[in-house]
Amino acid sequence: MANRDYYEILGVSKTASLDEIKSAYRKLAMKYHPDRNRNNPEAEEKFKEATEAYEILSDPEKRKIYDTYGKEGLNGAGFGSEGFGYKAYTDFSDIFGDFSDIIEEIFGGRGFRFSRGEYARRGSDLQYNLEITLEEAAMGKEFTIEIPRKEICEDCDGTGARKGTRPQICPLCQGSGRVRTSQGFFSVTSTCPQCKGTGKIVKEPCFTCKGEGVVKKNRKISVKIPPGVESGSKIRLKGEGEAAPNGGPNGDLFIVTFIKKHPIFERQGDDLIIKVNLPIPLAIMGGEIEVPLIDGKKAKLKIPSGTQNNQILRIRGKGMPILGTSNRGDQLVIVNVVIPQKLTNKAKELIKQLDQELATLGLNKETYSKP
Ligand SMILES: [Zn+2]
Ligand SMILES: [Zn+2]
Repeated sequence: MANRDYYEILGVSKTASLDEIKSAYRKLAMKYHPDRNRNNPEAEEKFKEATEAYEILSDPEKRKIYDTYGKEGLNGAGFGSEGFGYKAYTDFSDIFGDFSDIIEEIFGGRGFRFSRGEYARRGSDLQYNLEITLEEAAMGKEFTIEIPRKEICEDCDGTGARKGTRPQICPLCQGSGRVRTSQGFFSVTSTCPQCKGTGKIVKEPCFTCKGEGVVKKNRKISVKIPPGVESGSKIRLKGEGEAAPNGGPNGDLFIVTFIKKHPIFERQGDDLIIKVNLPIPLAIMGGEIEVPLIDGKKAKLKIPSGTQNNQILRIRGKGMPILGTSNRGDQLVIVNVVIPQKLTNKAKELIKQLDQELATLGLNKETYSKP
């Protein structure tokens, strides 16, 4: 262990409060924890160093001795590594209490603990981005995708050992893949440097996987896209990710859907929006039209008399399916009343007559131009 000053190791001042010390150690522990720095002896050394500094500086009594007499003082006062073992027992839960989130972060997500205390890593998760049409998102569809992924090598059943040979138990860690070193009351478990955590030593590696136990394969996988997915929806296929060497569980495969822009339908949450052109007489008099639906069918839509330009008419329950339910949003129809740009003489004459007739209802030029 290097003879650096404990305050210097933690990067705090000599007057640092307990909270400052804890927070400094926390940062270092997160950064240098051996589980996050596999096969990195320098990081491991830094982790041990910081842990030792924390053990002393977080204990007011030891800190006082250290401040007055230095490290020698601690040894002299009977705080040798054996000395602290017992007292430390109570401190132990204290540390893990304080740092339970670190422990969670370090051991929680990635590691997979066997009952024997042996670790096996999960295979990596994979993500596949799948572009689909709005129709496919509305109706759901089964796709077959092809992904490259690591799978257990069939030639060696994942052991990594050449046919006819067997991997041997690692003599250093006795097969656990982990080695434990005691740092005062804080014991550090790190990846076994000899077998790199596998617990086994392969003397003659398998030709196919070169001792990895896994090989890259292109695999066709069918995936059901449920009705109602959106851009960015994630579908998890458990265990369809990469295989893990050393018997760990497979990772998962996440299918992320992206929906292509549709030429006529626009999606707004669970609703679908479509624009339709209406001739003036129909808007004025009302009637019925047919509008396309996302499933390819058509729906009859009643146009009320006096329908205005940009008015929104609603067809209930014909929008997008709501994911995981049997409900649907609505289809909204935005009306575009088309003003003709070319007229025959007869049409002009009729419109003049219409204008005169509307004037008798008080709908003349003056009324229209009022704000
Ligand atoms: Zn080992
Ligand atoms: Zn193999």
